[in-house]
Amino acid sequence: MKQAKKYKFWFATGSQDLYGDECLAKVAEHSRIIVNRLNESGVLPYEVVWKPTMITNEVIRRTFNEANADEECAGVITWMHTFSPAKSWILGLQEFRKPLLHLHTQFNEEIPYDTIDMDFMNENQSAHGDREFGHIVTRMGIERKIIVGHWNDRAVQEKIASWMHTAVGIMESSHIRVMRIADNMRNVAVTEGDKVEAQIKFGWEIDAYPVNEIAEAVQAVSQSDTNALVDEYYDKYQILPEGRDETEFRRHVAVQAQIELGFERFLEEKNYQAIVTHFGDLGALTQLPGLAIQRLMEKGYGFGAEGDWKTAALVRLMKIMTQNTPNAKGTSFMEDYTYNLVPGKEGILEAHMLEVCPTIADGPVSIKVNPLSMGEREDPARLVFTAKEGSGIAASLVDLGNRFRLIVNAVDCKKTEKPMPKLPVATAFWTPQPNLVTGAEAWILAGGAHHTAFTYDLTAEQLADWGAAMGIETVIIDNDTTIRNLKNELRWNSVYYR
Ligand code: MN
Repeated sequence: MKQAKKYKFWFATGSQDLYGDECLAKVAEHSRIIVNRLNESGVLPYEVVWKPTMITNEVIRRTFNEANADEECAGVITWMHTFSPAKSWILGLQEFRKPLLHLHTQFNEEIPYDTIDMDFMNENQSAHGDREFGHIVTRMGIERKIIVGHWNDRAVQEKIASWMHTAVGIMESSHIRVMRIADNMRNVAVTEGDKVEAQIKFGWEIDAYPVNEIAEAVQAVSQSDTNALVDEYYDKYQILPEGRDETEFRRHVAVQAQIELGFERFLEEKNYQAIVTHFGDLGALTQLPGLAIQRLMEKGYGFGAEGDWKTAALVRLMKIMTQNTPNAKGTSFMEDYTYNLVPGKEGILEAHMLEVCPTIADGPVSIKVNPLSMGEREDPARLVFTAKEGSGIAASLVDLGNRFRLIVNAVDCKKTEKPMPKLPVATAFWTPQPNLVTGAEAWILAGGAHHTAFTYDLTAEQLADWGAAMGIETVIIDNDTTIRNLKNELRWNSVYYR
């Protein structure tokens, strides 16, 4: 897996010098306890770093600017233990450029009924101070996440963890570089888009290379390196020759091993984290990259087929956002293929010609060699499996001509009723929320593509928060969606986002 940085989050507690040293000492002590417990909880994917209490304009401004400059800092968590006059925060907030979490908590969970007096009230007034702080952030129109609840509650900690994944996605978006070794498929509209605008909005760098330059890198991979990787494949995966000659089968697999190594070296050398291919533009490559692309996705690369750089970048973004997720279930490029419309069993069969990431596999993964029904190359080797059950999200980024729209559908992945022994590709099967009829109608109304970036390990809320940070519209389709409301939402958004 290509790793992002070792990110950390700063914890900044707000107060003021009106309360005296004794009170401020307690504020600092409490926030240290909170930071230590959060780090010890085992729930957070990244470390929290305690910062001295924010009591003056100068300290606040300096701390935010230090956060900007610190490459390891992926965001600041603020909490007002006492009252902190929010005009003190204006300059610091104006200059702050990283993700902001407003943790609306307080040190004590319960009101100390027997002992509470005015000293306690003055020392513990988050309900008061956090409203003052929230007001100025709202007035300044700054995107932030608000999480409410006691800091030691696991549900609150899980929300902080979820936001941390989003924040790392916001930070890392501008490091995504997509290599195009093929243009957009002729005549196809939905995979097209404005690459300059994508760089302005998301920071993505999208560059083209002649396919034969990468084909040369593939040809430069030695026979011994290729054979060693084929041996690894034969150890790791089930081999299903299905009547094909064993030597010929192995030779076809070796072509993919050589592509995997050649592509990876070329991407590493030129510093790209995502790639697009096109079955109709393969130059000197003898097979459509199938198994090779599946393995690269497993290693953390983004991928889009038929020149689809938007989905390639989204897959890479999701791979980054899901890093450090315990028991992650996987993230892949995907395509809506065919429906099951039987009442009560509705769903979409998801696959691609070849390129589905094995991180989403449930159970054994096999290698097959089969003809492609499209293109004019030799039969490519591919990994075949079915995907895990469980909930996930499918996302599509579309260019509406004057702006981008991100569409996210919550989906429920299931097993197909029966196996599909004649289908030689990896598949998933899901029912879109709220159901197939409304989900598909909503998706089409919003203009979503047939290609998606899919993951089990993020929520629609996380992607919507990323979209908000990028300043684009996000349309969520889930169990709360009705067509009437969605139509209105799209109309209203067309006025807001112009
Ligand atoms: Mn496709």
